[in-house]
Amino acid sequence: MAILEIKDLHVSVLTDEEPKEILRGVDLTVKAGETHAIMGPNGSGKSTLAYSIAGHPKYEITSGEVLLDGENVLEMSVDERARAGLFLAMQYPVEVPGVSMSNFLRTAATAVRGEAPALRHWVKEVKQAMADLDIDPTFAERSVNEGFSGGEKKRHEILQLALLRPKFAILDETDSGLDVDALRVVSEGVNRYKAEHGETGIMLITHYTRILKHITPDFVHVFANGRVVESGGAELAERLEAEGYVRYTGKQEAAS
Ligand code: ADP
Ligand code: MG
Ligand code: MG
Repeated sequence: MAILEIKDLHVSVLTDEEPKEILRGVDLTVKAGETHAIMGPNGSGKSTLAYSIAGHPKYEITSGEVLLDGENVLEMSVDERARAGLFLAMQYPVEVPGVSMSNFLRTAATAVRGEAPALRHWVKEVKQAMADLDIDPTFAERSVNEGFSGGEKKRHEILQLALLRPKFAILDETDSGLDVDALRVVSEGVNRYKAEHGETGIMLITHYTRILKHITPDFVHVFANGRVVESGGAELAERLEAEGYVRYTGKQEAAS
């Protein structure tokens, strides 16, 4: 059974001035088939955790480990991470003018599967996945992320998830605030994916409790000040909804 282990991870972000320590000893284990919600106030380091696992060059791992089935993820290139079965949506956050979604997705699938999917199969697969996600067929011919709305970027993310079928997926909801439509797309997409591919482990990073009304996590972790400070079941999200993060930060912040 697949297992992703994060052990005492310390990470500094490289800035123009001094490197700044953001992650201060993150411990977290996700097993195949489990859904973990990582919740925390703005600026607590949630996205830094995702970027660090993705291998973003701006984030320096100063100590600790990330192991995928016992293999050291931190020594892998970004491509090797994908091939090992890690899905990190922000791996490809940029606009890629001139590269259609369809070509981009086939390239990504080739990297993950180790060989290019047969074209005829692939076209069918993409069509089906797009139909499942209510994605307009013209989307396939548009350039990657070019002029995408927040909701379209999220659809793209879930489309990638459905086509790449990783062992572990890390989805960062980001703080930008998904509109109701995008929230529905993401949660329905994740739930359908989970129903069909129950073996994928999911880390759902979010500032808000609202997506957890649609996706029931097996575990909820509170992230504050660069580490996991409390873990529990879905009931922990309900408490956060009622109380916000004040007990962890000392600072009052709206619960949602
Ligand atoms: P969250 O996702 O929980 O809101 P982030 O991981 O985005 O938190 O940020 C945590 C802290 O690290 C913040 O203080 C943020 O300003 C800082 N930080 C993150 N990434 C960078 C970066 N690339 N350059 C400078 N500071 C950064
Ligand atoms: Mg933030
Ligand atoms: Mg963030």
